[in-house]
Amino acid sequence: MKKIKHLRCSKCGKNFGEEVLYHCDECGTEGTLEVVYDLDFIKTKLTKEYLKNNNRKDLWRYMPILPLKEERGITPLQVGWTPLYKAERLEKFLNLENIYIKDDGRNPTASFKDRATAVGIAKAIELDKKIICAASTGNAASSLSGFAACMGIENYIFVPAGAPEAKITQLLIYGSKVILVDGDYDKAFDFCLKAAEEFGWYNRSCAINPYLVEGKKTAAFEICEQLDFKIPDKLIMSVGDGCSIAGVWKGFKEFYELGLIDRLPQMVSVQAEGANPVNRTYRKNSREFDYKTPSTIADSISVGIPRNGYKVLNALNESRGLTVDVSDEEILSAMKTLARYTGVFGEPAGVTGFAGLLKLVEEGSINKAESVALIVSGNGLKDVKSAMKAVQKPEKIKPDLGELRKYINI
Ligand SMILES: *Cc1c(COP(=O)(O)O)cnc(C)c1O
Ligand SMILES: [Zn+2]
Repeated sequence: MKKIKHLRCSKCGKNFGEEVLYHCDECGTEGTLEVVYDLDFIKTKLTKEYLKNNNRKDLWRYMPILPLKEERGITPLQVGWTPLYKAERLEKFLNLENIYIKDDGRNPTASFKDRATAVGIAKAIELDKKIICAASTGNAASSLSGFAACMGIENYIFVPAGAPEAKITQLLIYGSKVILVDGDYDKAFDFCLKAAEEFGWYNRSCAINPYLVEGKKTAAFEICEQLDFKIPDKLIMSVGDGCSIAGVWKGFKEFYELGLIDRLPQMVSVQAEGANPVNRTYRKNSREFDYKTPSTIADSISVGIPRNGYKVLNALNESRGLTVDVSDEEILSAMKTLARYTGVFGEPAGVTGFAGLLKLVEEGSINKAESVALIVSGNGLKDVKSAMKAVQKPEKIKPDLGELRKYINI
């Protein structure tokens, strides 16, 4: 493809042609490939003028810098161009001047993962792949499931048996073949990889498939446009495997190299205390991930081995990134604060980035005038059971005004 130069290994830097579907042959699955574009060529097409005159209000408005030859595989589902809110009540509450919330729970299957899936499915169709599979803590699964249903593609989904019910329900309703794996996400991931090799299925995992993060980077493009190309000082996100934050960083870098923006944000990786391999490794200035059994209420980022570890470390190193770890209590409390000050209800992993912002504010590590953009990566209705832990169910009363007076204390 003219717009793509080559695929580059995120671990050792070796280059590959587009005929290579997955990872680096020397680094194995740790060597996730990255799509490197011919930006001089793309520069002639993707200009501010082009964007201004572009009527598409979804991620396909960035087609000149997406890894597709044709439009055949584009689903009719509307992905991306999610709202970016200036959160004024929250700003007052936190005594900050510029907080922007991007609500990616507004995507078709209610998470950020839809950006990746949109590109993954289109690529599968372009490559004439008949069967597609994924392993997921939940959202990548429900996302693939919905998009595959939309396009009529057979799919196998591997999820850990403990995934939240709403996410498993999505899979069953969309009609996927669901493999409920007796084990955690790490086990489901390895098992899916093995099955995909055995049966020749196309693997939708962002950690294996170089094209998926190309969808994720579009969130950065949108933020640039939505802020009229004034770049936030900090971009805060929750991190599990690291594909999402690495994708968003790639987006900012590409817009920078295309000359569309004149500076880059600092990336802030927020992880749960009980599942923080990326943050631990970055703080040690190391490139070795040591495994610990993950434990957090935020199922979407409950990861023991980050499957895109090198990409996220590169993103943090390049952006002189920050790391924040938050407890499950902080995540639940952040869920309420975000909902009550902005009207945006996120699932635990969806608000983990916000919990990180609250921590930075508490520590005094953020200046009042600094601008902060935050991606809420999944909708709160995805995991109602966890949300209910953050609140108290009200008592039942009889439909009687006297009882109501007593109850609301008027
Ligand atoms: C997958 C996911 C993340 C983390 O993305 P990674 O690419 O695994 O780092 C965060 N929030 C939600 C809601 C997710 O589904
Ligand atoms: Zn390599």
